Amino acid sequence: MEKIAPKENLRPKGLKGISDKQIEYHFDTHYKGYVTKINEVWEKLESSDRSKGNQNYSDFRELKVEESFNWMGTVLHEYYFENLSADTEDMPSSLKKAIEKDFGSYDKWLADFKAVGTSFRGWAILAFDLTLGKLMNYGADAHNMYGIWNAIPILVLDVYEHAYYTDYGPKRAPYLDAFVSNINWKVVEKRYNKALKAHAALQ
Ligand code: FE
Repeated sequence: MEKIAPKENLRPKGLKGISDKQIEYHFDTHYKGYVTKINEVWEKLESSDRSKGNQNYSDFRELKVEESFNWMGTVLHEYYFENLSADTEDMPSSLKKAIEKDFGSYDKWLADFKAVGTSFRGWAILAFDLTLGKLMNYGADAHNMYGIWNAIPILVLDVYEHAYYTDYGPKRAPYLDAFVSNINWKVVEKRYNKALKAHAALQ
């Protein structure tokens, strides 16, 4: 399998309330670490002995488990960095309407999204659930834990300690506020429109 490379173009800079140092640790150590390891896992999987597969323990099983961790660690971090920007604009009206339709109001959505960000150990994700045909806020304790099948990430928030300890120590609440103030809504809208197309195509 061909190796994948970290997407340097996704590195955000000059954010409000999230320092470049914080982003540097997060991007260079954590995100790049997942990219390195998924490449390693995929390489080892090529020659892993399928005949020894075993649900209690087997090399093949361990590689497949870590594939889910490191691949989703890669993908979710790419969504996260991409949906942060120093140049923010107001939320596009089509997206605002969709959030109002599916959550009642922007404030209700935000309160729910922050509650998810406070209640989970890894991620808060605004997703378009292709089965329900609507936006939902979902949480994950790790990249590969509690993910919802058939849901497309629209807005991804990393709530691991490594995402904010450099700037805020153990205080997650001000980090959540800083995150919200740096959301690149244009990127979010683009993902939403793609999800709508996927949903229509699947009908
Ligand atoms: Fe992270």
